[in-house]
Amino acid sequence: MVSLPAAAWNAAGHRISAMVAWQTLDGETRAAIAEVLRQHPDFESWQAHANGADPDLTAFVEASTWPDDIRRDRRFYTAGVDEPTATEPGFPDMERHLHWHYLDRPLNPGARVWPSPGIIDRQLAALARIVGDPQEKISARAYALPWLIHLVGDAHQPLHTASRYALNGQSDNGGNQTTIINPFAAHPSMTLHRYWDDLPGPPWLRGSRLESAVDTLTSLYPRPASAGTPEQWIDESWRIARQHAYPLDGSAVPTISERFHESALAIARSRVTLAGYRLADILQHLFRAAEPQRKRP
Ligand SMILES: [Zn+2]
Repeated sequence: MVSLPAAAWNAAGHRISAMVAWQTLDGETRAAIAEVLRQHPDFESWQAHANGADPDLTAFVEASTWPDDIRRDRRFYTAGVDEPTATEPGFPDMERHLHWHYLDRPLNPGARVWPSPGIIDRQLAALARIVGDPQEKISARAYALPWLIHLVGDAHQPLHTASRYALNGQSDNGGNQTTIINPFAAHPSMTLHRYWDDLPGPPWLRGSRLESAVDTLTSLYPRPASAGTPEQWIDESWRIARQHAYPLDGSAVPTISERFHESALAIARSRVTLAGYRLADILQHLFRAAEPQRKRP
């Protein structure tokens, strides 16, 4: 079986993007988002992480990792691996949809490649359509919204849009099949994909520590003038992957140099911040479009 890419950005990266977005959103859009997220079947369980914080902010931040959290959730199943599980109220289906998280665009254009099942580009468009459509059932919008929040983050992780292909046409699954030595970690041997996932911060980052990390990042990286389109974000990620994602020291298992590490850290930090601003822009747009009709009698 082809092994699948692991989670993009660990939870820290997704929570940073969500917090940047929440701080960027206007109050009206926040309220409209909260109204939808309160209909999500897992809204109450997200509150276990509130620690006295605003329940709507908590839901938004926890929703950002929900598509990764269900990888370990036995209510859900992996198609082609597990038996389908019973559909629970509020969910359209219980599939984990691992192929929604990425795209395997070859880093060596023109290479003979095996077709990849990754469809993050198509899902970003499909989920945005559902979230922004007031005619959709509220349960469908509540299911699509955490996915949209999450996939905007994934689209900014360079190794979720690109793969290196061997001469036989086999992909390294976004660096999941490429091993590196990272001397800056406690356990230096890891996949290149994991190395990039962990750059934004530790997976337990929440609460006041998350807020101060976000304050630092938003002062370092200001909001761009325009959000661009998902195609552009994916294209940027692919270019970054091609130029900066792979350490090349001529050995089969390259070692991360200090210079490479500094450059990778700066890229990861700017990408998670940018993802947050863009998430705010896309949500503002979608909920503004949905609003006038929603209020019709
Ligand atoms: Zn993901």
